[in-house]
Amino acid sequence: MLRTLTPLEAIDGVTATIQGRRVVLWCTNDYLGLSQHPRLVRAAAAAARRWGVGARASRLLAGSTALHHQLEERLASFFHAPSAAAFPSGYLANLGVLGALLSPDDLVLVDRLAHASLLDACRLPRARLKVFRHNDVEHVAGLLRRDAKARRRVVVTEGVFSMEGDRAPLRALLDVTHRYGALLYVDDAHGAFATGPTGRGTPEVEGVAHGAMIYMATLGKALGCQGGFVVGHAKLIQLVHNRARTFLYETAQAPPVVAAALEGLRVVEEEPALRESLAGNVERLHQRLGPNLNHAPSHIMPIRLGSTHRARRLAADLFEQGIFAPAIRPPTVPEGTARLRLSLSALHTAAQIDRLVEVVRTWLSNQQ
Ligand code: PMP
Repeated sequence: MLRTLTPLEAIDGVTATIQGRRVVLWCTNDYLGLSQHPRLVRAAAAAARRWGVGARASRLLAGSTALHHQLEERLASFFHAPSAAAFPSGYLANLGVLGALLSPDDLVLVDRLAHASLLDACRLPRARLKVFRHNDVEHVAGLLRRDAKARRRVVVTEGVFSMEGDRAPLRALLDVTHRYGALLYVDDAHGAFATGPTGRGTPEVEGVAHGAMIYMATLGKALGCQGGFVVGHAKLIQLVHNRARTFLYETAQAPPVVAAALEGLRVVEEEPALRESLAGNVERLHQRLGPNLNHAPSHIMPIRLGSTHRARRLAADLFEQGIFAPAIRPPTVPEGTARLRLSLSALHTAAQIDRLVEVVRTWLSNQQ
């Protein structure tokens, strides 16, 4: 059960060299293929020359370059929100924002399948924590109805779930939280920039305004960079500037990644073909593999194998055939639900998808 790390010796788009072997990557979060996009790479290099490779200090001291402020303004306007705060990672954004919002007098409800960073962020401020059944709005309503005494009540969920690829019912969750005077906190790490007609994430797909919730996401997945952010009311951002410990006491994001993220936002607006290519790939993989797996179409497709042993065997057999998708096992996912988590990129080709399908199908049918 010990975990091991696999060094990648070279990466070019969705192909990599591992142990001297060329493999196709089916396990990155580089959904739009922006991590090596020439425009982002050029922006990062230019920023390193102009601002240096590191930020030198926290945001409150000398770490708040004009680039950081531009990024926050662009994020706020991209998501039609009054204000934004950027963090060095999504994990730190969750710890910082929920840490600033919650106290032991508060109640926080978290989806059972929420990411580790959300669970940590809810536990750290020692708020009263309750877990609700995955995407079960009635369960949320019942918990809010029964527990009205808290100072502040916050419901925490993901937009696109990282290990399932399904979406939270944001409209219904907003109705319920508004009805009971609670706040909705959405971590759209896997939805932002990759989903929605214009890349504005799960709220855009669900037809709700980002401003109706506390909306958080990462710059390290579809945007191909590094960092996290939250958008919301000016008062929320003021709270972050005064109370979010991971904002206050952490060295600011490195200028090259800030510049790359700014360029990434422009690419998301100017190159819709990337999102269209991702959507085409989702459709292709889902049509060929999805129906067997009984899963809604998404750029994250789990193949559930049950035992860790089985998941590891499939991963090892795929690797032999040039397909890299390591097994995901407990405690990352619940006991008995070990899986392969296939994630798609705009850069995968039709031929690569067809080969993946052929190899996985053959393996599964030989197992029956
Ligand atoms: N939230 C979710 C749902 C995630 O999947 C991740 C990354 N795995 C994070 C937050 C953390 O974001 P980052 O990697 O930018 O720290």
